[in-house]
Amino acid sequence: MIKFADLKLDPKVLKAVVEAGYETPTPIQEQAIPHALEGRDVLGIAQTGTGKTASFTLPLITRLARGRARARMPRSLVLAPTRELAAQVAENFDIYAKYTKLTKALLIGGVSFGEQDKLIDRGVDVLIATPGRLLDHFERGKLLLTGVEVMVVDEADRMLDMGFIPDIERIFNLTPFTRQTFFYSATMAPEIERITNMFLSNPARVEVARQATTSETIEQTLYEFKPSRKDRTFAEKRDVLRRLILSEGDACTNAIIFCNRKVDVDVLAKSLKQHGFDAAPIHGDLDQSVRTRTLDGFRDGTLKYLIASDVAARGLDIPAVSHVFNFDVPSHAEDYVHRIGRTGRAGRKGKAFTIASPSDDKYLAAIEHMLQRPLPRGEAPTLDPQLDSGDEAQRPARSRTVRSRRTEKPADKPAEMAAESPVKSEAPAKAKPEPKPESTVAQPVVAEAAPSEAVDSAPARRHEPRGGKRDEMVENHDDRRDDRRDNRRDGGRGRNRDDNSQVVGMGDHVPDFLLRAFKTL
Ligand code: AMP
Repeated sequence: MIKFADLKLDPKVLKAVVEAGYETPTPIQEQAIPHALEGRDVLGIAQTGTGKTASFTLPLITRLARGRARARMPRSLVLAPTRELAAQVAENFDIYAKYTKLTKALLIGGVSFGEQDKLIDRGVDVLIATPGRLLDHFERGKLLLTGVEVMVVDEADRMLDMGFIPDIERIFNLTPFTRQTFFYSATMAPEIERITNMFLSNPARVEVARQATTSETIEQTLYEFKPSRKDRTFAEKRDVLRRLILSEGDACTNAIIFCNRKVDVDVLAKSLKQHGFDAAPIHGDLDQSVRTRTLDGFRDGTLKYLIASDVAARGLDIPAVSHVFNFDVPSHAEDYVHRIGRTGRAGRKGKAFTIASPSDDKYLAAIEHMLQRPLPRGEAPTLDPQLDSGDEAQRPARSRTVRSRRTEKPADKPAEMAAESPVKSEAPAKAKPEPKPESTVAQPVVAEAAPSEAVDSAPARRHEPRGGKRDEMVENHDDRRDDRRDNRRDGGRGRNRDDNSQVVGMGDHVPDFLLRAFKTL
């Protein structure tokens, strides 16, 4: 078996790796590091949890250990699709480079340009950034990419989902063609293949654990339930979720609960809080400071339930998560693997529960087809007979409007909400006293805006005014990019939308006056 000491890493890097407690390289590290140290481009097909971050960070540090950074000219560039992932790469860098004198800067939205500019001015060895923020710095003339010796693109498939590929192409073109490139993606979509053909030079292709693989240490269970009425699905699902959490008792030390839509992340978090659960939401519409605080709380155990969207939680490395709940069946089968991979990490045991209603059948079939086996079924808990649609009224205006067309009675009386509280006597370990119901109407969330609002493009940004509110605009722009992906996943192109969000239009009927020719006078 290969050891880290066999990999020709810089002794200072080796020392840090040993201190991090790693005994042997993971398969992606074992395959990628030797090629990377030989100076070859690497095309890594690997998902999060495989040790891929160290597979490019360790050779990167080894390569940069000699040489010095020059002002405004970073020597290497690591691009990640989200702020959280970029921050995570930066944390990894800090661990592995602790015995070197290498410097880094993290360019992500939500941090003021001024602070980041200062670091770049001094000269950094490693620049870790999200693509939009990097280009913003570049356009402000604060950054030169002509000194980049190594460029890393992490999670390229997510970049594709989020519409970042044009930015990535542009950044590639701003760096010297002599650079070494490490390019990582969980899947090889044709567009990703195209980019790698264009910008990688004779890469060593290394591939580990196919996407459809779920860890053996994760116990997966599917709970199918049939709502009593379609318009009560959301409220009844919340009841099922609460009962599942409670039925796990102390075994559930913490959990990530996934929803498909950001707006539901908010509503579910609020509802769980109202029921005494220690829950907080995380998604792309929240302020960076709030996101960081929430994640830190979840990592250090002061927050027990993290309600998340796929984008926000993707790739996050939180070692001890006892449970993952799929409040919604993911509409993209590969997200199932990513979601449940948040638990059962590093050899620990984990449980992944998925709640499905009949409308999820086709997504479920896709997941089971990908896994090539059916998910084990569990018996869904019996619903509280007194449960009423109560806080269903918290859903955003758009959904309510559609439902009201379908003659739903609005029911947002606090008394009904109280009836929805858990009936089991054992409270969650850190349950807080049940608070009074909050305002029953949630604020509309940006992600729910018309698709055109969520779409953003680099050229548009370039025409934005400079200075003044620019930071704020860029920040929003970053978030909108997160949204863009969520919108697409939610069916932005007309796919996968839930019934409540369908646009009601004219169907095939075109009014006669629209078909008449104009008469010139
Ligand atoms: P990643 O796929 O980069 O997100 O890494 C997933 C987790 O594996 C992180 O917590 C790393 O700290 C950990 N890790 C990376 N390499 C190793 C290794 N060789 N041995 C044990 N754990 C590792």
